[in-house]
Order: sequence, then C-alpha cells, then structure tokens
Amino acid sequence: MSLVVMKFGGTSVADLNCMRNAARRVKAEIDAGNRAVVAVSAMAGVTNKLIGYVSELSDLHGGCEADSIISSGEQISSGLLALALHEIDVPARSWLAWQVPIETDGAHGKARIKNIDPSNLLTCLDGGEVPIVAGFQGIDPRGRLTTLGRGGSDTSAVALAAALKADQCDIYTDVDGVYTSDPRIVTRAQKLEKVTYEEMLEMASLGARVLQTRSVELAMNQAVRLQVRSSFEDSAGTFVVDEDEIVEQQVVSGITYSRDEAKITLVGVHDRPGAAAAVFGPLANANINVDMIVQSTASDGNSTDITFTVLKTDFEGALAVIKAFGDDLTFDDILTDQDVVKVSVIGVGMRSYAGVAQKMFETLAEKGINIQVISTSEIKISVLIAEEYTELALRALHAAYQLDAP
Ligand code: ADP
Ligand code: ASP
Ligand code: MG
Repeated sequence: MSLVVMKFGGTSVADLNCMRNAARRVKAEIDAGNRAVVAVSAMAGVTNKLIGYVSELSDLHGGCEADSIISSGEQISSGLLALALHEIDVPARSWLAWQVPIETDGAHGKARIKNIDPSNLLTCLDGGEVPIVAGFQGIDPRGRLTTLGRGGSDTSAVALAAALKADQCDIYTDVDGVYTSDPRIVTRAQKLEKVTYEEMLEMASLGARVLQTRSVELAMNQAVRLQVRSSFEDSAGTFVVDEDEIVEQQVVSGITYSRDEAKITLVGVHDRPGAAAAVFGPLANANINVDMIVQSTASDGNSTDITFTVLKTDFEGALAVIKAFGDDLTFDDILTDQDVVKVSVIGVGMRSYAGVAQKMFETLAEKGINIQVISTSEIKISVLIAEEYTELALRALHAAYQLDAP
C-alpha cells in the first residue's frame, strides 16, 4: 500500500463539476489500494479576486491581514472537496494550516515552511478518513496565518509528502505534464516523459509556472518523487527525477519566458573601483533582488553604463533607492523599460555541448530581434528582449533546437 499526496490546482477545482472530478480521482487512488492525502488550491480566479479586494482597499501588501484574506480561498475548496468525497461515500476531513499545523516563518506573502508535524494527519488516515489540506497557507510563530507566495500550494503538497514520507507526490493540473515550452504559446511543444530536478528548478524559476520554484527545490532536497499530470485525462504525466534516471539527455530540454522583470539603466556612471558595489549594495540592503546585469565602459574609460533587471514588483522600490543615492555615486541619467521579457533555454546537456548560446543568438538575429541583456549559468542561457517578440522568439528557438513535435 502506497501513501500518495495528490495536489489539485485552481483549474482542477474551478467549479463543483471539477470538484466532483477531483473527488473521483481521489476515490480511484483509494480503490487501487493506496492511502491518499490531498492538498488543494483555491478555485481558479478566487485568489486573484481576493488580492484585488486587498489592493483596492489598502496599500499594505503582504501583511498579516492580507494573508488572512487571500488564504481563505483554500479554506473553501478544502471543505467543498471533502463534501464531494462524502457524496461518493469516501470519508474525508478538511484541514486548515493551523489545524495540521503547517508552521512557517513570519514573512507574510512569501512565507517559508519550517515544520509540518504529520501526527494529526496520520491519525486521520488511520481513522479511515482522507485528509484534505488547504494548500498555500501556513501559521507563523505568533499563530497568525501566512501564505507561501503565488502558486504556493505546490510547495504545500511537496512539504506534506516529505513530512509524511509519502511514496509519491502527484500535482494534478490543467496540462498533462511538463512541456518543452508553455504549450499555450508554443503549440508544437512536446510533453517530457522525465525532467531532472535541476532543469525543472531552472524552468520554474525562469517562468514555467507549472510548478512553484520552491516546490521543486524542496522535492530535490527531500528526494520527493514528483509527477505533474492532468486532472482531466488519464495519461501518465511528467516525472521529475535525478539526472542518472535519464538515459538519453537532450542538450536543450526547455524554453521559458518571464514577463516579471523590468530593466533599469544608469547612464554615464562616474567609473571608479567600487561603483558597482555602490549601486547594488543599497539595493540588496533594501531586499531588492537584481537578476541580469550588464556594464559597458565608455572608450574614454571615465564613465560606464550599468544596466540591470529587477522584478516589476520591486521596480518602484528600486527607483526610490537609486534616487536616494548620495555623493557616493554620480550618473547622468536613468532609463527604464518595463516592456521586456526574459527568454531562457535550459538543459543539463549544455554542460557538455558547445554552441548552444551561438544558436540562440543567431536564431534571434535572423528574426531581427535585438538582445538587450544576456546572463548564463551552467545549464541555462537567458536573454532580455522587447516583450512584443515573446511568441516569435519562443517559437523560433523551439524550432531551432529541434524541439518541435513532428
Ligand atoms: P494550477 O492552477 O493547476 O496550479 P498553473 O496555472 O499554476 O496550474 O500551472 C499550469 C500552467 O502552466 C499551464 O496551464 C501552462 O500554461 C503553464 N506552463 C508554463 N510553462 C509550462 C511548461 N513548460 N509545461 C507545462 N505547462 C506550462
Ligand atoms: N491559490 C494560490 C494562488 O493562486 C496558490 C496556488 O494556486 O497554488 O497563487
Ligand atoms: Mg500553480
């Protein structure tokens, strides 16, 4: 008998028919002789609506009251799914984060899970009931509700699987697996049978929202067997696995995009040792993450342009930090651009093949797409381009790396 954690995302519990469908999936797992613990998201659109209420009423984002409001969608779906299970004669019980408990730090809006005591859920299972846990929620050391960041119920599910020492964690969603690129944009994207934790981590952090980045990080560290699969079709999904489980490794296995970043250029920075530290130190102190960076020095060697990207949500904050620079750093002008997209190609095979970057640059050049900033790591290359070219760039790169479905 296996213990399986099943997570249903927003579109999988979007209405009562979807709830009934999810309930049937849970029943099938139990009829197959397994034990199931379920994590649920809010019904599709509910979290956005709740966030809308908060931001219309107050400038205070990410606070303790905001979390109490935006975590409520998951309370509704855990109760409804438990009722849907009762209707098909499966005993089930809803669990909110504080009842489990799922303990987090106090970083409202982006809390990290510190500990899950599995004993209440195990008692529930032993009593013959399926626990339906509200995802996305936690409880901080003061006993207040927290939320885990957008898409956070993936992380709830993986953390539950780790705490319960589950045999598998299945993420049920509206696509039947992880694809070589977002199938809603690249119609010729192909489903991956397996993807490595490392690649999935890069894909998630570079924009493939099918799994929350932290959920992959946690699955990798805790060796949780993770599968992404469809709520609506029976086919096998995509398994996230160790590198040595993949026999034939593609050079590039995924292409992602993210519209979450904005570009800032400081023009004519007076160049001297320590200029970069004077820019990025205060941003780091203000808790603003800088992602891509490029610095180009003028031919006279006296001034330099520094271009970098920050999350759009940090954009205003970054400008405020820059405007507060004192005499430490002088520059001529600030240029900004929010209509940009970061496109990335990812693959562990890149470690052993040269020419991947070259192909990316050539392909974009052939389509007349200008590259504004480049950043690389061992298994990915990212470029920043104008947002209007998102679809064109994704499709052209997908074809160039021979990822298109036949
Ligand atoms: P859920 O509500 O189930 O958590 P999400 O909307 O968070 O679902 O994630 C699923 C979506 O992720 C898909 O509908 C798809 O458009 C998007 N997506 C982006 N990149 C990929 C990818 N490489 N493979 C599969 N889906 C992707
Ligand atoms: N309901 C939350 C969100 O929309 C969490 C999740 O769906 O995973 O971000
Ligand atoms: Mg999601």
